[in-house]
Amino acid sequence: MSDQTITMVHGSGGSATGELIQEVFAKEFRNDTLNKMEDSAVIPGSGTIAVTTDSFVVTPLVFRGGDIGRLCVCGTVNDLLMRGAVPRYLTCGFILEEGLSVELLKKVVRSMAETAREAGVTIVAGDTKVVEGSGGMYINTAGVGFVPEGVEISSKKARAGDAIIVSGTMGDHHAAILGERMNIETDIASDNAPLTDMVSALMDSGIEIHTMRDVTRGGLGTVLKELASASSKTFIIKDAAVPVTPKVKDFCGLLGLDPVYMGNEGKMVVLVPGADAEKALAIIKGSAYGEEAAIIGEVTEEEPGELLMKTEIGGIRKLDILQGEGLPRIC
Ligand code: MG
Repeated sequence: MSDQTITMVHGSGGSATGELIQEVFAKEFRNDTLNKMEDSAVIPGSGTIAVTTDSFVVTPLVFRGGDIGRLCVCGTVNDLLMRGAVPRYLTCGFILEEGLSVELLKKVVRSMAETAREAGVTIVAGDTKVVEGSGGMYINTAGVGFVPEGVEISSKKARAGDAIIVSGTMGDHHAAILGERMNIETDIASDNAPLTDMVSALMDSGIEIHTMRDVTRGGLGTVLKELASASSKTFIIKDAAVPVTPKVKDFCGLLGLDPVYMGNEGKMVVLVPGADAEKALAIIKGSAYGEEAAIIGEVTEEEPGELLMKTEIGGIRKLDILQGEGLPRIC
């Protein structure tokens, strides 16, 4: 069915739906749980469970460095990791528009399967619907993970004296999507990546992690301001310490954008006691997708709830969460 496009009959629940499920989804996602094709997946596990869900509406569906399939797995897995959970299971709901190329759908599904393997999660349940439209697709993913005993990582746990570490360069995903949409010639690629390796290395190190948060929509500025508010602490960062690739810096200069408010899909902020900062940084740098990690600031108590940025010329800029619309349909 590779040369076909999706039509309303693929959503009928009849033989065409069955063919779609067998030839596209079951082929790539197969595992003992999914293969049972029951009404719901019955999965083993006990203890404290982390659950999250996310919908993906990114356009274009395939972009430099990734696609909606890789993106939806990374987004959901990373949200589980940020609470210290070990991600285990994913579900996925596909909403396909009439006219979608089956070849493109296969590519996305393959990418999901590969990323799920990389991230260490199993896709245990799924659903497909077809709607009228013009060849688009949307994916909702839910994730389940298990939180090891004694682990308590939250946005409220920032302490004065914590170091603020980012795991890599800012703005790559946002710039890649915007470049594609505006037909700007650039080789900036999305950073969409699962942070499983990085987070498990940090957790195994025994360092007391206070807070982790993936830097997605709204960018670093929004995330840090939210963390400062949630913990009633002051977050102080140095502008010059925030890693941005020269390509993204040039891209931002061209379009008048601020990398501090541009989204990523494979980067996180982590807060650890200042004394452990160098050790944590070395672990992140040594893990997958962490080479460009940097310590960018610290947590204090001077102005509760505020995010302050020290500029290169010695000024202080007070940052708020992203105002206005940002870039729509980035994830
Ligand atoms: Mg998140």
